[in-house]
Amino acid sequence: MNILVINCGSSSLKFQLIDSGQEQVIAKGLCERIGIEGSRLVYQKTGCEKQTMEAPMKEHKSAVKMVLDALTAPGTGVIKALSRIDAVGHRIVHGGERFSSSVRIDGAVMKAIEECCELAPLHNPANLIGIQACMELMPGTPMVAVFDTAFHQTMPEEAYLYGIPYRYYEKYKIRRYGFHGTSHAYVAARAAQLLGEAPGKLKLIVCHLGNGASVSAVKYGRSVDTSMGMTPLEGLIMGTRSGDVDPALIEFIAHKEGRTLEEILQILNRESGVLGLSGGFSSDFRDLEDAFHEGREEGRRAMKAFAYRTAKYIGAYTAAMNGVDGICFTAGLGENSSLIRDMICSYLGYLGVCLDQEQNQKRGEDLIISAPDAGTKVMVIPTNEELAIARETCALLE
Ligand code: AMP
Repeated sequence: MNILVINCGSSSLKFQLIDSGQEQVIAKGLCERIGIEGSRLVYQKTGCEKQTMEAPMKEHKSAVKMVLDALTAPGTGVIKALSRIDAVGHRIVHGGERFSSSVRIDGAVMKAIEECCELAPLHNPANLIGIQACMELMPGTPMVAVFDTAFHQTMPEEAYLYGIPYRYYEKYKIRRYGFHGTSHAYVAARAAQLLGEAPGKLKLIVCHLGNGASVSAVKYGRSVDTSMGMTPLEGLIMGTRSGDVDPALIEFIAHKEGRTLEEILQILNRESGVLGLSGGFSSDFRDLEDAFHEGREEGRRAMKAFAYRTAKYIGAYTAAMNGVDGICFTAGLGENSSLIRDMICSYLGYLGVCLDQEQNQKRGEDLIISAPDAGTKVMVIPTNEELAIARETCALLE
């Protein structure tokens, strides 16, 4: 089956057309600056050079139209007609407590996704617009919603409740949900394959370290805890997000600097994390690593705080599962930075973690990077959220 995977942001749209039988990408790309001047589609047919096509895209429907035209037009095209797209898989950020697995999209599902908008006001509305645009341009093509939160719906109450009055959970569903679930699930399943064990026998910790970053505890194939909370702001120090802070500092800074709550939340989301810790130097770990190697204080400070916080979560999740068999690194930073893996693992000697430094320098494939006699296995597993969405979509239709 040919599955079109769509990931719609507020002004962007990423897509991949995947042959689910061969598990191969046929074409992929990104529409940028939707609704803003200078919008463009960067399009790549597998095995060919990237092409940039500039065209006005007033809203998401024109972006989807441009993608569908590129997929079918002579020259750029990879399929003869839209009827060759068997289904569309949509990445949806928040499924609340309603969705613990992927679903076929119908009117009731659309309404339920809409009800989750207040939990993810930056993401769910854009996701819905993407679904609507695809429905209008491809009527009759089955659509599937794959939720970032779904995998973590197996968390027990003691892991998802905040220590605040219980009525707020009852009235407003304020609780921890967790994100990056598609990636955590994919990586945990690959890790079990790499270790040659059944997922139901393993206690794994997955570190999804990218611009957004989260850790999860996956016990016997099910998520039992994860570091992001009601929103993706909680947990690890990230590119620009603070992760865990004392909530009292919000009022403190607001008072000292004469700012509103909204402004402080904006600072915690966009000006904090390693960007903030490095004094505004960079949110990109490549820059921070260069600074670290040059012995510059801003790079050292940000990287050390990032590694320390991550190691602390690994310790917490080892306790949550009463042990750990394997620790997996994934996403932009986790897959590519031997330095950050080394820095995090340097805290984990008590778990018998010991890296094979030669293995730790490799990249691009599923790897065990711990020494053969290490007490806990450490792995690098490139994530593939699009493939996971295509698989889910396919499985639901079959
Ligand atoms: P993601 O959000 O998964 O796309 O990851 C983006 C993050 O990965 C950015 O902070 C990048 O700087 C980081 N990253 C990507 N490649 C490398 C690399 N080779 N070394 C260090 N960090 C990297």
